[in-house]
Amino acid sequence: MYLIDYHTHSHNSFDGYISVDRIVSRAVELGIRELAVTDHYECSDLRTPMAYDFEKSEGEIVEARKKYGDKIKLLYGVELGQMHFEPELCKLFCARNRFDFVIGSVHNLKNDLDLYFVEYDAENSKSLFDEYLSELYALAANADYDVLGHITYPLRYIKRDGQAIDLNDWAGRLDEILKAVIDRGRGIEVNTSGLGGLLGDTMPPFSLIKRYRELGGEIITAGSDAHKRAHVGSGIEEALKMIREAGFEYITTFEQRKPSFVKIEE
Ligand SMILES: [Zn+2]
Ligand SMILES: [Zn+2]
Repeated sequence: MYLIDYHTHSHNSFDGYISVDRIVSRAVELGIRELAVTDHYECSDLRTPMAYDFEKSEGEIVEARKKYGDKIKLLYGVELGQMHFEPELCKLFCARNRFDFVIGSVHNLKNDLDLYFVEYDAENSKSLFDEYLSELYALAANADYDVLGHITYPLRYIKRDGQAIDLNDWAGRLDEILKAVIDRGRGIEVNTSGLGGLLGDTMPPFSLIKRYRELGGEIITAGSDAHKRAHVGSGIEEALKMIREAGFEYITTFEQRKPSFVKIEE
């Protein structure tokens, strides 16, 4: 199976711990063929002095390419939060850094409300999930991303706080988001970071991966969202099997933000 991990964080992310070299050496050990380092940048930070050192990140990637380039294809990527809040600045930022791959994610709502730090109860779970979908739609329909990151992201924290959401109640809204992605020639990722934990599922779950395919979706990647060495490549084989089961014959890879398609083998 052609394994890819298109979502990892190095110590150049505010919440990462490991050097690019440590991520890549682990990926090589696991036989991963393509790896994207996608350090965080929240677009609301773009107006403030650089919070993260992308020059250092790129430098580490250049070094790792020299060391491991014959064993693995390495992409210089980024995970941009709330791109739709600052579309012009994000465009300039991406052009300046010449990323291979850009994940567009929603981590925060307006007024800097961070979905991770909320305490969810029966009432706010629904309204905040609703608000999350509105922001995700705005991002999907307007921003210059390659794939949408971890669709259904708040579910893991809603579950953490003992609450539940029935995605069927939001089927129409989710369709709108997936259609915007497809109409604009973009894609989604299958994020495996919830598989081993409390959520016990991918983001998005299988039902939405399948729905995305039914609506005509073609561009799809898989990523572990590893912030630690032990999580690199975690759950990727399972995700690729799910993607195939949902009706995709190909996984998508990127270079200089251009998609290509690689057959998902048994
Ligand atoms: Zn994220
Ligand atoms: Zn991430």
